Amino acid sequence: MATQRNITDLPDLISALPPEDRALAKRIFDVSTTTGRLDPPEEMHAWISKSFGSVDRVRAQRIVKVTNRITLEGTLFNELRASRPLDTGVSLDLDCEIAATEGDPFCHPKDGTPADVFGRVIGEHATTASNIAKYDGFHGVVIFDDHNPLHLTPEKVAGYVSVGLEWFRKALEADPKAIYPFLMWNCLWRAGGSIIHGHAQVTATRHTHYPKVERLRRAAADYKREHGSDYFRDLATVHASLGLDIPLEGVHAFASLSPIKEKELVVVGSDPADPALSRAVGALLQGYVNDLGVRAFNVAFYMPPLTSTEEDWSDFPTVVFIVDRGDPANRTSDMGAMELYAASVVASDPFRVAEALRDGLDG
Ligand SMILES: [Zn+2]
Repeated sequence: MATQRNITDLPDLISALPPEDRALAKRIFDVSTTTGRLDPPEEMHAWISKSFGSVDRVRAQRIVKVTNRITLEGTLFNELRASRPLDTGVSLDLDCEIAATEGDPFCHPKDGTPADVFGRVIGEHATTASNIAKYDGFHGVVIFDDHNPLHLTPEKVAGYVSVGLEWFRKALEADPKAIYPFLMWNCLWRAGGSIIHGHAQVTATRHTHYPKVERLRRAAADYKREHGSDYFRDLATVHASLGLDIPLEGVHAFASLSPIKEKELVVVGSDPADPALSRAVGALLQGYVNDLGVRAFNVAFYMPPLTSTEEDWSDFPTVVFIVDRGDPANRTSDMGAMELYAASVVASDPFRVAEALRDGLDG
């Protein structure tokens, strides 16, 4: 049996890779370690031992900084935080709180929500509405038939996505310049969702894609120019070589080495309309909820535009990001100035996340 891999051992894990994989990992990721030290007074020792296991573990703390050289996104992992077991607790109160809001306008969207100028898309598991206060010229809501957003299955998630994609086509018919699609899901209030009833959101924008999507396109294009190879395929290869992949049919899915926040997953698929992609996202979300105890999460679909543009999207796949936003009972925000302006500080070890999701899929 192989010894457990830990994110704080990442430099050694990369060094131990076969030469080709090692070169690829070093091409994409810059990894460095440091040790943070402190000197606690005797009076604190009992409390420290109780909270962190031992005083020595707190005295010298190993920290790993992972920077994606291509996208310039990065994450700090502290072994003191990362070595804690993944918190997979489930709060029954939350189920009650969700049930208590049944009967909201999203439970009867036809008379409780406005339609878009092009009408509604009605699918097997969801119906669209027009967002009242819009982010952008086209901004819709994919309202799930299920009130409780956590009662999800791969089939239902595939249904939500396909309703969203049909909504993009309708928006494009209404405005041929609204070519850049974005699909997002803010599940529960810690993830930015103000309405509990299950819903995703869709926007279609003009002129250029949203800046973070465009930035990723440019980074991948630069990578291709410099190295003559596909960034997304290489990124998936690096994660798989280290054992961070989560095998799912028709996609590359992995627990990110440079997560934006807790337990971030990345799914790379070919076409947004490929049912294998949306089902894979659904399977991962089901694992999030059932195996990892996640309750509040964000999902974002990066997709190429619906028609050809001046800029080149020909190599851009569909990339889906999934991230845990923490315990709904916790009043402290998971993001502070570090995350917004410097680098993400993350407690969950991506190796534990990948293992838990793989075990869940096997079971
Ligand atoms: Zn409802």
